[in-house]
Amino acid sequence: MALPEIKLRAGRATIEVERLSKSYRARGGDLLVFRDLSFTVEDESFVCVVGPSGCGKSTLLLCLSGLLPLSEGRVIIGGQQITSPDPKTIGVIFQDANLLPWRTVTDNVGFPLELKGTAKKVWRARAMEYLELVGIADFANAYPHELSGGMRQRAAIARGLVQDPTILLMDEPFAALDEQTRMKMGVEVLRIWEQTRKTIVFVTHNLTEAVFLSDRVIVLGARPATILDDMPVDLGRPRTYDAMATEHFGLLRQRIWRQIGDLTPE
Ligand code: ADP
Ligand code: MG
Repeated sequence: MALPEIKLRAGRATIEVERLSKSYRARGGDLLVFRDLSFTVEDESFVCVVGPSGCGKSTLLLCLSGLLPLSEGRVIIGGQQITSPDPKTIGVIFQDANLLPWRTVTDNVGFPLELKGTAKKVWRARAMEYLELVGIADFANAYPHELSGGMRQRAAIARGLVQDPTILLMDEPFAALDEQTRMKMGVEVLRIWEQTRKTIVFVTHNLTEAVFLSDRVIVLGARPATILDDMPVDLGRPRTYDAMATEHFGLLRQRIWRQIGDLTPE
């Protein structure tokens, strides 16, 4: 199927994280989630963040998106310090698709544009383009309950892309999917990434997924987390399932597991 021409801005968005710390106010004292994180995500690259449950992966993404205030340090995107959410620059996709059940798929995907006051004809047309891109145009008029879990996540990705942000932040977007659907969605995300050249930061606790998708894997330790490793993934692109069967893939996965396997509670 020929894909529609989509005018996408080049993703000129390098993310620089400088000495970032975050604590939450909690009864009985502050909870330090992570401290002194410094890393750079190059423009148009695909970086995965892994770490044990509760180490602050979701918190980190919220800090990068400007949705959550930082305790210390700063986040610079495309040379500008981030102080508040900017949906034109940053799209966020969460674990749950969070589609509005009373709206069709098109009307869900176009919702961010409608909120901005875009004319209905325009936002519906844009929504359709992105439904084509993520491969669910046939379900444009369906309601969320009529979709499979994978299709709902595709719709959520389309909604995250509809404002054409230069950066996509994805927080365990496939955690609720079965293993096979998850692998297929991974390949889909790589296809969409190759087509749109977004800068992607992708949080996952699945080490195979992390190695398969990324240019680099940032490994966080137990809370209060620091960066244990910033591992380049020197596997070729475009990537196919066959990459997973190689010895080198296994060694990369093993390198992460050695660092965090013991930190994961049973
Ligand atoms: P992860 O995504 O790696 O599992 P989170 O970022 O969700 O970790 O949470 C990190 C820690 O911060 C956890 O101990 C969690 O209980 C705590 N936490 C998360 N959100 C809040 C909040 N809004 N207020 C207080 N504590 C929070
Ligand atoms: Mg999380």
